[in-house]
Amino acid sequence: MISPQIIRSNRKTLSLSINENADLVVRAPRRVSYDEIQKFIYEKSAWIDNKQRLIKAQLKDNVNANISLQCLYLGSLYPLKIDNNSVEPISFDGHEFSIANVNRDTINLPLKSWYKKRFIEVALPRLSYFSDKHKLKVNQVRVKEQKTLWGSCSSKNNINLNYLLIMAPMKVIDYVIVHELVHTTHKNHSAKFWQKVETIMPNYKDARYWLKENGHQLRRL
Ligand SMILES: [Zn+2]
Repeated sequence: MISPQIIRSNRKTLSLSINENADLVVRAPRRVSYDEIQKFIYEKSAWIDNKQRLIKAQLKDNVNANISLQCLYLGSLYPLKIDNNSVEPISFDGHEFSIANVNRDTINLPLKSWYKKRFIEVALPRLSYFSDKHKLKVNQVRVKEQKTLWGSCSSKNNINLNYLLIMAPMKVIDYVIVHELVHTTHKNHSAKFWQKVETIMPNYKDARYWLKENGHQLRRL
């Protein structure tokens, strides 16, 4: 038997509710017996179960939400605050992110557009730098979210870069850029390809390892 919280008053009928902690609350007339209350609860047990399950799931979500309200940016984790007074949809002061007018379900949208802007600002100049310095000619560069790739280089030397990489350390962004740039001259992963990557970025293996170990965290968004 469920032992509910019983609130008696001058009301005429029994009523049930589930509070924010998923506990059952019964409102009852003063003279209704405990047995009658239990009978009423028994009749409504399907409704109670369902309602309690929903609220418990919500409580669990809230706990998860509080844990995961942190954002990765250039390899570091920063706290994220929901500030509904903020004018900017999203801002970052170097220590923490503030995000406005969102709930748990819509938080990814402003964050993704912020990440994309930052990636364009941060990564594209790096691509120009390596491309000029090592005479690796690129046709077009596109920045987009990709489900499985960090970057790609087509037969026509069009390079796609996944902007979710902005969450990774700078050396990892550099590595993906160098990797794709080297594909403009080597269309495979031959020994010559890797030699060229190493010439440009001698410690590329660290970055490659980081991506292998942590890449899944970048795709969780
Ligand atoms: Zn490749």
